[in-house]
Amino acid sequence: MTFIIETRNVSYSYGDGIEAMKGVSISLDEGRKIALVGPNGAGKSTLMLMFNGILRPTSGEVLFHGQSLRYDPASLRELRRKVGMVFQNSDDQIFAPTVYQDVAFGPVNLGFPEEKVKRYVGYALAYVGLCGYERRPPHHLSGGEKKRVAIAGILAMEPEVIVLDEPTSNLDPASSEEIMDMLDELKCGGKTIIISTHDVELAYRWADEVILMDGGRILKRGTGQEVFGDPGLINKARLKLPIVVDIYKELVARGLLSDSNPPRNVLELTDLVEARNRGTISRRATGKIHIADVDKIGPDDINSILEEAHISYAGAMGTNAKALAKQAGIILDFTYGVIDKCILKSLSGKDSLIMTSGGMVDHSVKRIQTYCEESGAKIEVVKLSSH
Ligand code: ADP
Repeated sequence: MTFIIETRNVSYSYGDGIEAMKGVSISLDEGRKIALVGPNGAGKSTLMLMFNGILRPTSGEVLFHGQSLRYDPASLRELRRKVGMVFQNSDDQIFAPTVYQDVAFGPVNLGFPEEKVKRYVGYALAYVGLCGYERRPPHHLSGGEKKRVAIAGILAMEPEVIVLDEPTSNLDPASSEEIMDMLDELKCGGKTIIISTHDVELAYRWADEVILMDGGRILKRGTGQEVFGDPGLINKARLKLPIVVDIYKELVARGLLSDSNPPRNVLELTDLVEARNRGTISRRATGKIHIADVDKIGPDDINSILEEAHISYAGAMGTNAKALAKQAGIILDFTYGVIDKCILKSLSGKDSLIMTSGGMVDHSVKRIQTYCEESGAKIEVVKLSSH
C-alpha cells in the first residue's frame, strides 16, 4: 500500500543553522483528517512546507503517492496543484485586486482556457460560500472571508491534499467553526486534509489522526485518544489536555469512572457518567432527529417543517446548508459538532433538525446509527423530503 504523503528520515536546517527538523519519518493515509499538534517552534510549519516542495529537506526524502519529489519547476508546479497550501496569514496568500482574480490565479497559471477558469472559480467560490464576492477587493474582507478566499484559490485547482497552517488562528469562534466545518465537508468529498495547530481542543475533536511534535521531532502519533490519553507526554510538549480528557481523568482519580480510553467528546463523557450512575445508557423516550437535504428542500419547506414538527433545536453542516438557513431566517443552535449535539438533545427528549447536503446526509445517518448500535440507545431518524 502506498501513502499519499510520506517523509523518510527528513531533516531541515534554516540558513542560520537552526535545525528545525530532525529525522522525521511519517506516512499519511489518503482521505483522512490529520492534525500536526505541538507548541510554537515544534517544526509543524517546516514539515508542512516540505509536503508541497516549498522547502527541500537538507537530508532524507519526501514522497507523494510513493514517488520521491522532484524539485524542477515543472514537477513542483504539478505537485502544488495536487497538494494545496493555505498559509497561516491570509495576507501572505491573497494579492490580486479582486476575489475573482485571486481565485483564478492558479487555474490561469495552469493555462486553462477562460471558460474552464470561470467554471472552476465559480465552483470554488460557491463551495466556500462566497458567491457574489467576485468583484470585491480581498483586502477589505473579514479574517474569515479572507481565509475562505485562500481556500477557494486552492480548491480551484482541484487538489487531492489540502494543507492548512494554523487555519483558525486570528479567527473568532464562529468563523473558526465555519472553516473547520468546511474542512469536514471536503474530507467527506474524499480530500486529505492536514492542519497544524497548537489548539488541543480543535485537534482532539476534529482529527482522525494526531501527530504530536516538539523540537523538530515526532513524539507520538495516533488517534486523539491515544495521543492525549498520555498527560505526561502532553505536559512534556508544553500543551494542555483537552477539557473533556481533563474532566475524565479527574473523575477517574476520584473513583467515579473506571480508567480506560478517554471519551472523545461531551457526548461520550455524558454517556460514561450515565452508564456508571444508572447501570445503562438511557433508552427512554428519545427525541427525533430530522435530517433535511438542502439540495432537495427549499427555505419555505424547512420553515414549515420547523413549525409543524415541534423541533426544539436546529443545526446546519456545510456551506450550502448554512446559506439556506440564513436565507430562511433560521437562527441556528448548532454550527459545529452538529450530529453529536443533536444526539445529546435526543437523549434528553428533544427533537432536532440537521440541515446538510451531498455526502454529509448519509454521513449523518450513519453516524447516528453507529452511535445507536454502540450505545444501545434508540434514536428515530426522519429523513425529510419536500412538501
Ligand atoms: P511551528 O510551526 O511548530 O511553530 P516552525 O516550523 O515554524 O514551528 O519552526 C521550527 C523552528 O525553525 C523554530 O526554532 C523556528 O524558530 C525555526 N524557523 C522557522 N522558520 C524559520 C526561518 N525562516 N528562518 C530561520 N529559522 C526558522
